[in-house]
Amino acid sequence: MAILEVQQLRAGYGFPVLMGISFEVEEGETAVLFGLNGAGKTTTVHAIAGVKKPDRGSITFDGEEVGGLAPNELVRKGIALCPEGRRVFPALTVENNLRLGAWTRRHSHGEFDKAKELVFEYFPVLGDRAYQMAGTLSGGEQQMLAIGRAMMSQPKLLLVDEASLGLSPLLAQSVFKAVNRINQSGTTVIIVEQNVGVLPYADRVLILEKGTLVFSGKGKEIRSADLREQYLGGTASRDGQRRRGRATTRSASKSKPTRTPRKRPAARTRKRAARGKTKS
Ligand code: ATP
Repeated sequence: MAILEVQQLRAGYGFPVLMGISFEVEEGETAVLFGLNGAGKTTTVHAIAGVKKPDRGSITFDGEEVGGLAPNELVRKGIALCPEGRRVFPALTVENNLRLGAWTRRHSHGEFDKAKELVFEYFPVLGDRAYQMAGTLSGGEQQMLAIGRAMMSQPKLLLVDEASLGLSPLLAQSVFKAVNRINQSGTTVIIVEQNVGVLPYADRVLILEKGTLVFSGKGKEIRSADLREQYLGGTASRDGQRRRGRATTRSASKSKPTRTPRKRPAARTRKRAARGKTKS
């Protein structure tokens, strides 16, 4: 049974980004949404989580139309988003970060502890660091905390936006494995990725290109080499780590333009220019 049905979803920011995409995710699946920078992956999960209002189309979750509802209402209905960029509260302890993830559920102490212990089972390192400030965690640990915090609302559907960004291949794999354990304990998962290392965990693969879904199929139906070469522009290396810097990527366009240093004029030209100045 489909837990999520997206039909003809259109969204944008004064200009169109999602051009009317449709897909379904079955209950208990892990779906991976691939695509180059700027393809519209984040916009898609933001629309599902209520962070971005759709312009058109429908989003049905658990048999109910939820398109356009506020994020807090969607958390209560069972959708949790782990946003891109490991947004943890650096000046709060690991435990207090987790507490914030549980607020919509109004947990009793017992319930909070149960949810927290479950997160510590998925990510044992967080249990060891429970009273450490989140800002002092390593990048990988912060990513685990961000996912753990989303899990504190005990969602039916977990959306993870680019969990592996900036992580070593080994750490990325350990994050993918933990997300796989979360999935196997019954949570449906949608992961946004450019890292083909996640492919072994994908029941369903969705590929976005310029706001259009160009592939939707079973994880087994696509080879990582094809995914990399045909759809990710060969920007991901063999171990699945993304190589940034293609001129067409958003992050490339966001980064400072590279300037060719201006050559110092040759000595003779400089002298001639100086002579010209004194003349006038
Ligand atoms: P990335 O992998 O770089 O995160 P993405 O596939 O997730 O890319 P989106 O973040 O959904 O892509 O962005 C799609 C397009 O929408 C891009 O052209 C981007 O610049 C634009 N965009 C995203 N967020 C905003 C915003 N808040 N305001 C204006 N434009 C935006």
